[in-house]
Order: sequence, then structure tokens, then C-alpha cells
Amino acid sequence: MKRKITKTQFFDLWWDEFCADKSMTGVGCMLCGSNGSIDTRGKVFTAAGVECGGLAFCICPNGRALKRAHEIAIARQEVGQ
Ligand SMILES: [Zn+2]
Repeated sequence: MKRKITKTQFFDLWWDEFCADKSMTGVGCMLCGSNGSIDTRGKVFTAAGVECGGLAFCICPNGRALKRAHEIAIARQEVGQ
């Protein structure tokens, strides 16, 4: 069963669990260091030694803004703007 959460609940989860610096003046996001992306390529492996890393947008506000900008850029590219 899939349970949906609201954007506010999602943000609250990140804020409570992964925001080290609540003032947001320093490093706010423990996951990406507040740069908005997480690159684990070549750094994460299964127990069998298979690489399973990747490059992804973070779930923090910076990552979500980057993802949104990326999606807009892709959409513009598709319509030839
Ligand atoms: Zn982040």
C-alpha cells in the first residue's frame, strides 16, 4: 500500500532528520552539503561489489529548486526554445 505525504510533511521530514543547521546560514543539508545534488557514483557498492551509486537531485529545498529548473530546461529544449 502506498501512502502519500503532503509537501509540508515531506519538508518537515527533511527539516527534522537531515537539516543539521536550522539557521540555514552554514551547511543546512546533511545529505548534499546544500549544493542540491548527491553524487555517489564510484562511492557506493552492494555487498557483492556491484556499483549502485548515482547522480540525483537532493530532497532539500536546494535540490528541489535544481530539479524544477532542470525540468523547465528540458521542457524548453523539447519545444525548441
Ligand atoms: Zn540537500
